[in-house]
Amino acid sequence: MNQPRLEQRAHSAIRIPHSKILLGAHMSISGGLHTSIERARSINCTAMQIFVKNNMQWFARPLTPKEIAAFLNHTQRGELLSIFAHANYLINLAATNPQFHANSLRALSEELIRADQLKLPFLVLHPGAHLGAGEEAGLEKIIGSINRVFRRIPKVKTRIALETTAGQGSCLGHTFEQIAYIISRVREPERLGVCLDTAHVFAAGYDISSESAFRKTLREFDRVIGRDRLVAIHVNDSKTARGSRVDRHEHIGKGKIGLDAFGFIMGNRRFHKIPKVLETPKGKDLVEDVENLKTLRGLIKPAPH
Ligand code: ZN
Ligand code: FE
Ligand code: FE
Repeated sequence: MNQPRLEQRAHSAIRIPHSKILLGAHMSISGGLHTSIERARSINCTAMQIFVKNNMQWFARPLTPKEIAAFLNHTQRGELLSIFAHANYLINLAATNPQFHANSLRALSEELIRADQLKLPFLVLHPGAHLGAGEEAGLEKIIGSINRVFRRIPKVKTRIALETTAGQGSCLGHTFEQIAYIISRVREPERLGVCLDTAHVFAAGYDISSESAFRKTLREFDRVIGRDRLVAIHVNDSKTARGSRVDRHEHIGKGKIGLDAFGFIMGNRRFHKIPKVLETPKGKDLVEDVENLKTLRGLIKPAPH
C-alpha cells in the first residue's frame, strides 16, 4: 500500500534538480564586483546577494564602463540564475539627524543606480530605525524618503526589497503591518518588493519553527503584505530566541529555529522561484557556506501537492 506513494514522492523530488534550485549566499565583492560571481560559482551557488560597493562607506566613485562590463559579460554570470543586491548598513531612511538623512537618500539613490547598471532586479533594504522619534513618525519619514529617492531616479528599474527586521533597538519593519503600511503609502508601490529573513522574523516573534507554524506565518504574510511581494528569502538560523528582538545570525541547524523551518522552505513549491541566500558567519575560504548549503540541500523534500 505504501509503495505507490513512495514512488510518487521520489518522482516529484527528481523534478527539481539541485542545479535549478535558487540557492546561494551573500558574497564578498573584494577584488572587484565580478569576483563575487567566481566565489559563488566556486561553491555551486545558483543565487547570490552582493553589496554594490564597500559596505562601510557612504559613497563611492561611479562604476566605470569596464567594471560594469566585467560583471555583465562574465563567462560564469549565466550560471547564477538570480543575482541581487543588499544596501549599505549605514543607510537609515528614518534618520533624525539631517546630515545622516541626506546621506541616506543620496547613498540609496546611488546604490540603486549601481544595481541598475549591473542589471540586478532589486536591492534589499532595512526600512529604517526611528531612533526615538516613535513608530509613526519613523514610518512617515521612511515613506517620504522612498518617494524622494524614486523621484530622483525615475528611469532606474531596480526595485527596493524591504527586508523584514528583528526589531532590534528602534528598527522598523519587524511586523508585517509596518511593511504593508509603507508599501500602501508609497507613491510608486510597483517599485517595491519584500525580502523575508528567517532569523529576523523569528527574533521579531513570528513562529516558523514547525511546518504548521510556518504556514500560519505565511498566511499572515499573504494577508497583510501580499503573496506576490515576496522576492527573496534570507535563510539564516537565529542565535537568539523567538521574540528576543535581537538580530544574531547562526549556522543552519545550529540555532534556535530548528531544521523544520528550513526543510519547509527548501521543499515548498511556492519558494522554487524565490532566491534563497545565506547571510551566516563565514571566512574567506567559504567552508561555512559549503556546510550550510549542504545542510539545506539535504533537506529537500518533494513539494507538497
Ligand atoms: Zn539585511
Ligand atoms: Fe537579512
Ligand atoms: Fe540580520
